[in-house]
Amino acid sequence: MSLPSVPPAPRSLGNGIHTIPAPLPYRKPPWVNCYVIETADGLILIDCGADWENGWGALLGGIDSIGRGDRPVTDLIVTHLHPDHVGMAPRVVAHWECRFVMHHIALKTIPRYNDSAATEAWMAGFAQRHGVPRDLLSTVTSMGPRPDFMPLLSEPDVVLGEGDTVELGEDRHLRVLHTPGHDPAHICLRDSRTGILFSGDHVLPRISPVVMYADEFPNVLDDYMRSLDRITDLGIELTYPAHGEIIDRGDLRARQILLHHRRRLREVTERVELADVTAWNLVGDLFRPHLSPLDQRLALLETVAHLDHLAIAGRLVDLDRDGVVWYRSSG
Ligand SMILES: [Zn+2]
Repeated sequence: MSLPSVPPAPRSLGNGIHTIPAPLPYRKPPWVNCYVIETADGLILIDCGADWENGWGALLGGIDSIGRGDRPVTDLIVTHLHPDHVGMAPRVVAHWECRFVMHHIALKTIPRYNDSAATEAWMAGFAQRHGVPRDLLSTVTSMGPRPDFMPLLSEPDVVLGEGDTVELGEDRHLRVLHTPGHDPAHICLRDSRTGILFSGDHVLPRISPVVMYADEFPNVLDDYMRSLDRITDLGIELTYPAHGEIIDRGDLRARQILLHHRRRLREVTERVELADVTAWNLVGDLFRPHLSPLDQRLALLETVAHLDHLAIAGRLVDLDRDGVVWYRSSG
């Protein structure tokens, strides 16, 4: 395994905003962009990276240089419940005794994040139901021991909802946009002074974030596409994403990602018109070959999100055959 690429150095972006790229303990993506906003009371940190020494070193060094050692982090706001964004939260909270802030859906989903064994068992049942053959099941669904970079999480100290504001002082605030899809608890934050959007993984510059089936949220693809529409409707321009470079026109990028999903929905519809399929059949058709087990799981979760979206819209029907879900065209 080659070493992860080296992230760029922390830098000021103007308007009291700084970015600290924190390396991640794997190659894809190689780092997460943490953002720091200066306030009268200290520093607000948006996302913190996975919990490992290289990430902690980058974060601590970056924050010390911004705060010159005497401005503490008062709040850690996490855009969503994935380990490359929230993993380091326990260490950050313990070090600065700051508030841990997330969308209120995280109160429901943190217990599952903390229970790796239950997640793996759920994935095995899901994969079997969606057509993964028995001889591949354990390869596709075994997750191994819980990685050190995702320690168990406590509940947030402060929970946010759509439209809430986080005061920055001097008549400036961050407004919360609840943008479910990539994760049900995903939020973006909009700076009232500059109009800049901190987009987390909702809108990324080069890749389309994975949209994953989730039991309690029946149409996550619809959630995601609506959340993208909001970014275009608001005419969001400058966008600071959690991975990759700054986006000049968040609204146009959101529209591109939306078109990608519409194209994918058409491909899925055409494929199902040819013959009944399981989600696993489609993973082989739609994604590049030789995916890693993790990518196979993500591809399966996203494919079911697309199929279920079409089934809810009445364009496909789902049929149970011996405990396996098959999709048939309704046309
Ligand atoms: Zn991410």
